[in-house]
Amino acid sequence: MAGQDLISVDDALAHILKRATPKAQTRSVPLTECLGRVLAENQYVPSDVPPADNSAVDGYAVHHTDVVAGRALTVSDRVPAGTAPKPLQPGTAVRIFTGSEIPDGADAVVMQERVERTGDDVLILAEVSHGQNIRKRGQDLSQGELALARGVRIRPQEMGLLASMGMYQIPVLEKLRVAVLSTGDELVEPGTPLSPGQIYNTNRYTLMGLLADAGCEVVLCETLKDTREATRNMLEQAAATADLVITSGGVSVGEEDHVRVVLEESGNLSLWRMAIKPGKPLAFGDINGTPVLGLPGNPASVLVAFMVIGMPFIRKRQGRPDALPAGEYLPADFEVTAPSTRREFVRARKDGSGAGASVSAFPNQSSGVLSSACWASGLAVVPEHTTIQPGDPVVYYSFTDLLS
Ligand code: AMP
Ligand code: MG
Repeated sequence: MAGQDLISVDDALAHILKRATPKAQTRSVPLTECLGRVLAENQYVPSDVPPADNSAVDGYAVHHTDVVAGRALTVSDRVPAGTAPKPLQPGTAVRIFTGSEIPDGADAVVMQERVERTGDDVLILAEVSHGQNIRKRGQDLSQGELALARGVRIRPQEMGLLASMGMYQIPVLEKLRVAVLSTGDELVEPGTPLSPGQIYNTNRYTLMGLLADAGCEVVLCETLKDTREATRNMLEQAAATADLVITSGGVSVGEEDHVRVVLEESGNLSLWRMAIKPGKPLAFGDINGTPVLGLPGNPASVLVAFMVIGMPFIRKRQGRPDALPAGEYLPADFEVTAPSTRREFVRARKDGSGAGASVSAFPNQSSGVLSSACWASGLAVVPEHTTIQPGDPVVYYSFTDLLS
């Protein structure tokens, strides 16, 4: 098959992103359920975080000008965390703990390791300066500022930040509802014995995991027989139920491959076969306006094509600002001697870190070898018509960046 028959990865991405209309419906969920969801509204800080100046250490709060070498201060009060302090009596020290609020009139905290305590007196053994060991009110977030922007996907740290602001009901976008259809007469569900000619349905589970990581809801998950009728019925039903239909297998040119034909007959096929390795027999179109992404059948192709094409589409539909993942250039620890007309996404592993980092390739890049992706930490890109010598820079995307 000549390379010019295939649509380039860049053209395919431009094509599908143009059709990725963001899902606009929003809902409010409790903080405990917002992980992985996309924020629907800008979040402004209702009041300063932390709400008051507080101590960064266990020690003694003082006014720094009261500290004179060799002269002890009386300990006039004690402020455990969680209590409201009284103002500092001038010329005294206050026993204070990490996180305790700083009494009015104090402007520094001396670590307890830097003092000698005798009864109610404390002798300060170190220099003390204004502001020392004090975490300022609002040092994390100050009232009125934008804490998190609409479109941000909530990770554990965003969840914690929302909690620190006292937010409880969180406005998020509705999850994208996805139907997963595996095609293939040879497929058997794990947990049952295999008969000759059968294999276990792998893609169903890879896709369920990918979609969960992507923050989508799987609303329908079926395995189809390789008949025109079964494929048509289920594709039409899935398109009526979901925001996105993802199929695996049955998009090639064999007479048992029905997905592409049904897409043409029941809807529109707008893209077919991409200059990508692995993952060439990829189809995209819609049935009654519901997008259908037809992934290839081979398990490693499913993973790569989902990450490269499916994920940017999903991100854009999720209303997120950056549809494409950020990559980094790393020197290759592998070689590619025969240039290809297709862009290759190599299951690869980043070794080392910083200036010493490099990227190595799993030796068997067959599209049927899924263990390559379990060994790998991401994908390295070999551009079209390019050979790679060890040491040449290649773009590397970590799985985390591809899926987050
Ligand atoms: P197809 O495009 O349907 O001819 O599938 C290509 C290859 O992928 C064949 O070897 C299929 O057996 C295999 N395959 C298709 N679907 C799955 C699946 N869900 N799990 C594992 N392998 C599959
Ligand atoms: Mg098949």
